[in-house]
Amino acid sequence: MTSEHVKCLIIGSGPAGYTAAIYASRAGLKPVLYQGAQPGGQLTITTEVDNFPGYPDGVQGPQMMQDLEAQARRFGTDVRYGVVTGVMLSNNSSLDSPHKAIVDEQHEITADTVIISTGAAAKWLGLPSEMRLNGRGVSACAVCDGFFFRGQDVAIVGAGDTAAEEASYLANLCRKVYMLVRRGEMRASKIMQQRVKTLPNVEILWHTETVEVLGEEDVTGVRVRNTETGTEQILDVTGFFVAIGHKPNTDIFKGYLDMDESGYILTEKGSTRTNIPGVFACGDAQDNVYRQAITAAGTGCMAALDAERYLAVLEVGHLQEQYVH
Ligand code: NDP
Repeated sequence: MTSEHVKCLIIGSGPAGYTAAIYASRAGLKPVLYQGAQPGGQLTITTEVDNFPGYPDGVQGPQMMQDLEAQARRFGTDVRYGVVTGVMLSNNSSLDSPHKAIVDEQHEITADTVIISTGAAAKWLGLPSEMRLNGRGVSACAVCDGFFFRGQDVAIVGAGDTAAEEASYLANLCRKVYMLVRRGEMRASKIMQQRVKTLPNVEILWHTETVEVLGEEDVTGVRVRNTETGTEQILDVTGFFVAIGHKPNTDIFKGYLDMDESGYILTEKGSTRTNIPGVFACGDAQDNVYRQAITAAGTGCMAALDAERYLAVLEVGHLQEQYVH
């Protein structure tokens, strides 16, 4: 096992990670960033991004991530392929007991600060047709992709707050929205349920499961089944949205970091500080509400600034200690 020490380790390469890298490298922290199993994160599996400020004509998700990576590299971030497979986070706020991370089971890296930007992954139904048409009418983000279906008919699966919120969002853009709810009730908060139930162009199909998404090149419909009667029908839709929850990529931090019941890392209000000194969390790994590229980038910036300040305080303390001894 090889080993090295860095001032700032960034884990994850979405908008949060790269923005943290840009700020940390400009602040002289010489960050090392490990990209993880999906370099570029969730945006690499979307198509056009129209809502990230600064791109008046929109940008392809993968292109935006290449741009962010290039910007981080320009200031000296050491961007590396590799998956952090385990960590040992130190509870001591001291430069003498850094945090440890293992990369690909073969490299040990110790770090004075760790910025976690591992993101989250949308949950999918697991249908082969859903995977095949992903990005060609199948989407897990109405705010990202709903615009492409304006004036069209779409379906959305799920009955939680996300599905209710996204169904309302789609109802503003689309001609008709079918909401596919697998039980006879919704999990969403009463107020969100009320909202979707009163929208004239939202039709809720209760006790309904998806059998197959239809289409060769693009989505042309969806076959659904009523689980009470067994009756199947085809809905003529061009967009199929899945809103059945997300899973934050935080398993390796369990046991060290405080998290909510879904695994989102808890941070101190108004900061990216976690319960472990020197460990900061940004992006979707700690955000189950906004989940946008721009909010992830914003918290990435915050994490780098928090790390910089943390190190500045520790380094002053360290110097004083050396002077006293
Ligand atoms: P949830 O876990 O709350 O809801 C997931 C929904 O998807 C449930 O209705 C569930 O059905 C359904 N579902 C799960 N698997 C399947 C499947 N295989 N087929 C069909 N349906 C399925 O996830 P959300 O993303 O909605 O919310 C996550 C958290 O974020 C919640 O705490 C929520 O309150 C919060 N949130 C808050 C918002 C806000 O405050 N503005 C906005 C969005 C989210 P079932 O009910 O039958 O299990």
